[in-house]
Amino acid sequence: MLLERLRAIVGSAHVITDPLTMRSYTTDWTGRWQGEAAAVVRPATTEEVSTAVAACYDRRIPITAQGGNTGLVGGAIPAAGSIVLSTRRLNSMDTIDPIGRTIAAGAGVTVAEADDAASKHGLRFGIDLASRDSATLGGIVATNAGGIRMVRHGNTRAQLLGVEAVLSDGAVLSRWSPLVKDNVGYDLPGLLAGSEGTLAIVTKVLMKLTTPAPETQVVLAGVGTIAAALGLCDRMRRHGLTIEAAEIMTAEGVTLVCSHSDARDPFAQPSPLYALLEISSPGNTEAAVLEVLSQLADTMDDAVVEPGPARKLWQIRESHTECISRASSTPVVKLDVAVPLPAMSKFIAALEAALAAEFSEVTPILFGHFADGNIHVNILDVPPDVSDAITGRVFEIVAAHHGSISAEHGIGRAKKSWITLGRSPVDIRLMKQIKSTLDPRSILNPDVLLPLAPADSAHT
Ligand SMILES: Cc1cc2nc3c(=O)[nH]c(=O)nc-3n(C[C@H](O)[C@H](O)[C@H](O)COP(=O)(O)OP(=O)(O)OC[C@H]3O[C@@H](n4cnc5c(N)ncnc54)[C@H](O)[C@@H]3O)c2cc1C
Repeated sequence: MLLERLRAIVGSAHVITDPLTMRSYTTDWTGRWQGEAAAVVRPATTEEVSTAVAACYDRRIPITAQGGNTGLVGGAIPAAGSIVLSTRRLNSMDTIDPIGRTIAAGAGVTVAEADDAASKHGLRFGIDLASRDSATLGGIVATNAGGIRMVRHGNTRAQLLGVEAVLSDGAVLSRWSPLVKDNVGYDLPGLLAGSEGTLAIVTKVLMKLTTPAPETQVVLAGVGTIAAALGLCDRMRRHGLTIEAAEIMTAEGVTLVCSHSDARDPFAQPSPLYALLEISSPGNTEAAVLEVLSQLADTMDDAVVEPGPARKLWQIRESHTECISRASSTPVVKLDVAVPLPAMSKFIAALEAALAAEFSEVTPILFGHFADGNIHVNILDVPPDVSDAITGRVFEIVAAHHGSISAEHGIGRAKKSWITLGRSPVDIRLMKQIKSTLDPRSILNPDVLLPLAPADSAHT
C-alpha cells in the first residue's frame, strides 16, 4: 500500500491525510483553484524524495510538487488521487560562495531566506518578488519567475547555474557546476526552469548572486500615458543611470490599495498612471535623477524621489496583489501577459475598450513590471461562468499585439486551454515529446501546462 510505503520513507508525521490539514496544500493562493489529494508527503532529503517518487512511479500515482504554494495559475494544485510532494522541508542553506558569487540551497528555502543569507556576505539574491517570504527556490525555478529585479538581472533561468532534481522514476539528476562557461551538451537546468513540476522535482539549486548597488533612489512619477512612462525609463538609461526596477500602476489600482491598506497616495491630485522606478548609478544618483526629472517635467503630472529602499513608496506597488484579492467579490481572474514595448499603449487601450464594451460588470486593475513589457491584468468581480470568456478575450487581444499569454507566472491549469495562442503546433509537439521522454508514465503534474487531449495529434 502506497501510504504505508511513504510513511516508511519520510516518517508518519510527514504523510498528511487529514482533509482539513491538507486544505492549505490543496487550495491555491487566490482561492480560485481547489484540488483533492490522496496525501501530502513532506520529505526532508533528496534521497527521501527519490524513494518516494520511485514508489509513486511503480504504482503510476500522479505527483504534484509544491513549494510555497504562491503560484497564481493553479500549477501546484493536485488532481484527485494525486500525492502532493511538499518541498518545504528541503530547506538546507548549503553554501554561499562570496568569491564566485553563488548560492547552493535546498529547493524549499524561501527567496527571503536566500536573500538574507546572501546579504550577510554583502551580496543579494537576484530574484525578488512580493511573495518572497513564502515562494521557494524550487518554485521560482519551476515557474522561471521574473519579479521586480528582472529588468536588472534577468529571470530565474538567467541566474540558474545548476540543479539537482529527481526524475519521474526516482533517478537523481545532478547538473551542478558553478562555471558560467560550460557548454557540454543540452542546457538541462534551463529546460527545468519553467517546467512547472512536469519534468522533474527540483531538490537543490545553484544560482548566481548579485552585487547590490551602494545607493538607490526611488522615483514615483505621475504620468498621463504609457509613452511618458517608457520615455522616463529611456531617458534615465541614456543619462547613464541603471534601472534596478520599473513598475507601473493605474489610478484605480492606487486608489484600491489605499482604501484596503494603510498605504497613502503621495500626490495631492491622482494621476492616470504611476511609474515607480528604482535607480542606481556609479556617481551621485540623486542629483542625476533630479536632472532627468527636470528635463522631463512637462511629460509628468507630479513626482517624488526618496532614497532606497523607500518602503512606503514600494508598499503601494507591493500591496496590489493582496488588496485586489481582498477587494474582489469573486476569485480574481489574474492574467499575466507581456507585449512588445512599442505595442504597449495600443494594447492597453484595446484591452480597456474591449472589457468596458463587452464585460461592463467587471473591474479591471492593471499593474506590472512594465519595462519588461509585462502587464498583470487583474479582473475583479467576474461571475464564475464568464471567467473563461473574459480570459479568452484578453488573450486574443494579447495575441493580436504579438504578446505572450504568460510573462512570468507560467501556464499551470489556468491557461493551458490557450497555449496554442503562445506556441505553434510543432513547438507543442516537441514539448510533448520532451515530456514523454522525461516522464513516460505521465505522473508529474499531468494536468498542468500541456493540453491533455490529442488536440494537436494531426501534427504528431
Ligand atoms: C503577492 C504575490 C506576488 C507575486 N509576484 C510575482 C512576481 O513578481 N513574479 C513572478 O514571477 N511571480 C510572482 N508571483 C507568483 C509566485 O510567487 C511565483 O510563481 C513563485 O515562483 C512560486 O513559488 P512557490 O514556491 O510558491 O511555488 P508553488 O506555487 O508551490 O508552485 C508553482 C509551480 O512550480 C512547481 N514546483 C514548485 N516547487 C517545485 C520543485 N521543487 N520542483 C518542481 N516543481 C516545483 C509546482 O508544481 C507548480 O507548478 C507572486 C505571487 C504572489 C502571491
